[in-house]
Amino acid sequence: MSITVDVPTPNTGQATSFPATAGNRPPSAAPAQAEVPAFLTEAELAAQLVGDARRIRVLTGDRPTGALHLGHYLGSLRNRVRLQDAGADMFVLVADYQVVTDRDAGAHTTGHALGLVADYLACGLDPARSTIFAHSAVPALNQLLLPLLSLVSVAELERNPTTKAEAASAGRPALSALMLTYPVHQAADILFCHADLVPVGRDQLPHLEVTRTVARRFNTRYRPLFTEPRALISDAPSVLGSDGAKMSKSRGNTIALRATADETAAVIKGFKTDPDRHITYDPTTRPEVSNLVLITALCRGEDPHTVAEQIGSGGAATLKRHATEAVNEHLRPLRARRAEIAAERALLSGILRRGAERATAEAEATLQQVREAMGMAY
Ligand code: ATP
Ligand code: MG
Repeated sequence: MSITVDVPTPNTGQATSFPATAGNRPPSAAPAQAEVPAFLTEAELAAQLVGDARRIRVLTGDRPTGALHLGHYLGSLRNRVRLQDAGADMFVLVADYQVVTDRDAGAHTTGHALGLVADYLACGLDPARSTIFAHSAVPALNQLLLPLLSLVSVAELERNPTTKAEAASAGRPALSALMLTYPVHQAADILFCHADLVPVGRDQLPHLEVTRTVARRFNTRYRPLFTEPRALISDAPSVLGSDGAKMSKSRGNTIALRATADETAAVIKGFKTDPDRHITYDPTTRPEVSNLVLITALCRGEDPHTVAEQIGSGGAATLKRHATEAVNEHLRPLRARRAEIAAERALLSGILRRGAERATAEAEATLQQVREAMGMAY
């Protein structure tokens, strides 16, 4: 497939091989990082996975603020499953503490967190091979935030474009200190397990840059310890929702993974398009139409230009019919699996508890390395 991924140019044109592992995995010294690009595309990942993925460590996650949607699936979840199946060491975080960056948590948070785990399993993540855990259950991870916060300035955090956008959409009168420091918390999430690769949507690239900066500064100030992780950007780095803005749990503009076929049809019917009846794939000039074309193409495993040509002058209604069929067809097995496990609260909680045990062991080992590097191991 030839899909244009509109992401910033990597900071070098170097070959994108994975660095040797660092931190509490052998060898113990972090590699020189200056030449490693900040992100990897799906095509580059595919080339990498021809080799051995077992030395890749992956961290990624989602906030339990609502039901996972097609943006998560195409932007990150599919690649997580691919990496897991290729043998990568996968950590998946239910980022519950980050719920309170822009809203209150409560009883609904538990339901959302368990719902996330159900979605993960339905998509093909396997708790026997992937460590699925929640922030709040791993104190050592959160303690890492303290030394890492000392490595960035308030001005740097205030300039972060994703923080600005999320603060604006939160609709709260004041920016919480947790929202401001969210990217550093995310650095702790990624660095606690010395992840090499972080499958994320495009909105997360500025945050990942903070992680890379923090890792670099720690390595320079104390000792080489952390790998500078790279983002893995999918062929759909920013799926748009029904209103033409980024599909987001908080905007109510999503195609939920768990939705029924009829609900999916109703949501897609309401998607914003444009008046030109001739369907083309041109994300720059026709973002809404191209978004539906891309969704259709990725669900069918086809090239988006081919999908657009097939529909031709059929107009938005035909495009929406194709998109609905493609999404419902592609998600059918996932939805069936989800229906079987969604009510199994003990199973889903048990997965989070076991994941927290492994994540805690990792986080404590990393925290000890950090204390030693900082002269605080007594
Ligand atoms: P919220 O509105 O609560 O922020 P969200 O829908 O933005 O929810 P997150 O939990 O913030 O979802 O994001 C989890 C992961 O999914 C991140 O890596 C993010 O980049 C990715 N992601 C979220 N929305 C999209 C999207 N529309 N397209 C591609 N990737 C996405
Ligand atoms: Mg978000």
